[in-house]
Amino acid sequence: MVLDLKSVFANIGKEISIDSSLDMSETDFSGGFPLKTPVSVKGKVFNRAGVVEIDIFMDYDFDAPCDRCGKDTVKHYSIELDKMLATSIEGEESDTIITVPDMKLDVDELVFTEVFLSLPAKHLCKETCKGYCFSCGKNLNEGNCECKSESIDPRLAKLADLLNN
Ligand SMILES: [Zn+2]
Ligand SMILES: [Zn+2]
Repeated sequence: MVLDLKSVFANIGKEISIDSSLDMSETDFSGGFPLKTPVSVKGKVFNRAGVVEIDIFMDYDFDAPCDRCGKDTVKHYSIELDKMLATSIEGEESDTIITVPDMKLDVDELVFTEVFLSLPAKHLCKETCKGYCFSCGKNLNEGNCECKSESIDPRLAKLADLLNN
């Protein structure tokens, strides 16, 4: 969706509301497609005292297997974008200003970038997920296994010794 903002730039108090969605189901992230349902986009572009701003909320469900145990896990995220819009910037580029030289704003492109950058690097079914035992493969959320827990990497054991001395 491309918004034509000429009327907003020209009129103090003018406001355009945004209520749309963006399909990102084809977006590959870490080898999977976690955005199975469309991203909801709600907010507005408005002119307050001659300053044009965009303020939108993007809501999405991140649906992927848990990084540790592999259980299908859906988590909801809500992010906000609140920036100024300007036809040009004097001086340095700014993180808080989006330039729209032709007064047109590609909302889909903006939303895509914001959502993509916000996708979680860590995805766990629960913070305390224990994952699988590296030796026997048992799901440790369902109980402990028979393996000895002290069978740690010998290099780490050496490091632990060094730190203790
Ligand atoms: Zn898990
Ligand atoms: Zn085990």
